[in-house]
Amino acid sequence: MLIEELSASINTLPDIGYKRIAELRQMGIDSIRSLLMHIPRDYIDLSKHLSLAEAHMGRFANTICVIKAKDYIGQGRKKILRIFVDDDTENAVLVCFGRNFLDKAFDIGDKVFVNGFFEYKYGRLQSTSFSIEKYTDKSDSYGKIIPVYSVKGKISQKLMRKLIKEAIKRYLPMLDEPLPDKLIADNNLMPIREAVQEIHFPTSIDNIKKAKRRFAYQELFALQLMLMRNSIKRKKSYQSYAVFDTELRDKIEKSIGFALTVDQKKVLEEIFKDTINPIPMARLLQGDVGSGKTLVALLASVPYIEAGFQVAMMVPTELLALQHAENAANLLGKYGIRIGLLTGSQKTASRKTLLAAISSCEVDLIIGTHSLFGNDVRYKNLRLIIIDEQHKFGVAQRAKLLEKASNPDILLMSATPIPRTMALTLYGDMDISTIKTMPPGRKPVITRLAVHGKEEKIYAWVENELKKGNKAYFVYPMIEDKDETELKSAEKMYEELKKRYKNYKVALLHSKTAEEQKKAIIQGFSHGDISVLVATSVIEVGVNVPNATCMVIEHAERFGLATLHQLRGRVGRSDKQAYTFLLYSSNLTEDAKARLMTLRNNTDGFLIAEEDLKIRGPGDILEGTVQAGKLRLLFSNPIEDKALLEKTHSDAARLLKADIALLRPEHTYLNRLINIVSGDIAI
Ligand code: ADP
Ligand code: MG
Repeated sequence: MLIEELSASINTLPDIGYKRIAELRQMGIDSIRSLLMHIPRDYIDLSKHLSLAEAHMGRFANTICVIKAKDYIGQGRKKILRIFVDDDTENAVLVCFGRNFLDKAFDIGDKVFVNGFFEYKYGRLQSTSFSIEKYTDKSDSYGKIIPVYSVKGKISQKLMRKLIKEAIKRYLPMLDEPLPDKLIADNNLMPIREAVQEIHFPTSIDNIKKAKRRFAYQELFALQLMLMRNSIKRKKSYQSYAVFDTELRDKIEKSIGFALTVDQKKVLEEIFKDTINPIPMARLLQGDVGSGKTLVALLASVPYIEAGFQVAMMVPTELLALQHAENAANLLGKYGIRIGLLTGSQKTASRKTLLAAISSCEVDLIIGTHSLFGNDVRYKNLRLIIIDEQHKFGVAQRAKLLEKASNPDILLMSATPIPRTMALTLYGDMDISTIKTMPPGRKPVITRLAVHGKEEKIYAWVENELKKGNKAYFVYPMIEDKDETELKSAEKMYEELKKRYKNYKVALLHSKTAEEQKKAIIQGFSHGDISVLVATSVIEVGVNVPNATCMVIEHAERFGLATLHQLRGRVGRSDKQAYTFLLYSSNLTEDAKARLMTLRNNTDGFLIAEEDLKIRGPGDILEGTVQAGKLRLLFSNPIEDKALLEKTHSDAARLLKADIALLRPEHTYLNRLINIVSGDIAI
């Protein structure tokens, strides 16, 4: 058995009531597997004896004492128990705040284990944070390293330890080792049973590290193996014969009215090379917000369509789908290319017609949200799949879309770039294209920081821009007011800003706005008379309104750096000077301020993404990429564990070279592990 296969419920463990089971479920612990993978957040080292004499000024003691006396200080309900102890090196007093019940548990003359932090106060060693336990010759704590778990509600550390101990006792002997012996030996890894035991109940601090390293190795190795196996499969598959050329694409490119940047041209050629190659394309296109990725993707689609194939473009929001469909219609419509917009909110009748057209290849370019991979959607001839803002999608969602075609070409696009090593981890050997240069004539957006309380100055500045005929966004972290917080909400500020800018038309947009209304509002903001758009971060991706020159983000510290950069990318989309105002709370931490300063001082999205990674780690980028699968990176961090990443990469490559199908007997459990965790890893 593998840990991943221990799906037995925790209610098979003894002495656990249904209330506790419900609470554990709330913590995400329902099976033996999830219980064993609930890794301690910390440890208390009680392995060494530390006498009271050694414990001075906030130092830790871990010793065996005799209780000499007990008394109470204070009066009535406020009285506090004190226990006087002695361990032959020194005596000390334990002040039992809120723990008067200890009086009943311990008598004078009892031998006890005591550990805690001590300090000298009123001429005597004392502790208010200690733990005390009756002496036995087989203590659960003294002489050991004790795990500390993150817990919720009435779940105590004691209960967690007891449950995990019991689970280990029952299930550890059944566990099989997924990693081949050779890898364990070569990398000096701790075997699985020992690693599970040591991570929960370590026999030394060094063994905690060894156990963690083993798990880190295993998860990166499994990830590499999956990705590599998929890409080997991909490279061994061939697409049907077809002839592509760039004639129509080049003609359309010339009709645009401006020249493509050098990088856009370069990327288009890179993509076309993949197009004519019968081995399926897997390419990631990275480029900062506003660098013109959409245009590249649309032009790259043309040779496919000309050759009689369909192209699907998936985007994270309906708003963005709508914008892309409009752009596509403007750019490609007049050349006879048929465009379909498929979203979740579509009316049944029109959806039916569209689905019929898609399945009979009467639509060439289908743009939409995740509804593109709905069960009822059948493509006649899908060859290219484009996924815009790909980091907004989970692995499972991408996989579902890929199932709609056989050996399709895949183009992922993202404005949140990731370092090369991380790309390697997350996408295996995807090819990467990068647009570094921005379209000419763009003025960098000027970013200003201001503390809440000074918004009037900014509102006045915005009014001045409105007078010039320009437009402004106001972004808030929440849709509606919640009593507990002092955060401004989009709804409330919509009312205020309507009064503030009474000569202008103000509109409100958030995720709960009805789809039809959303369209009307975006239409009104981009071409009509709406001057001020009050919104949440729904407008983060895609919205393209060139004459918007102001972006005001209130409670800016509430947003991630990447999101702020994306939001800022909504302005500065023409040759007009644009501004972003970040309003922050007066009680901002130094870290949070440093993040906002990073944004103020940089306009380069790549640099900001790197800073964001340094500050927050890769969590956000991994989210939706790896974590959507069953494989979670709990122990490893592809950025910090670069050496381990590279080692697992080469180990995985060597292993697959010898046994691509993992059919050798020594790979039985590895094969099972990969099948369990890879369920939905697509590329
Ligand atoms: P991205 O998707 O990379 O954020 P978009 O494709 O939305 O960027 O492009 C932003 C804007 O820049 C669009 O209005 C687009 O028409 C315009 N644009 C794209 N390429 C160029 C170029 N080479 N020269 C001038 N404008 C361009
Ligand atoms: Mg885009």
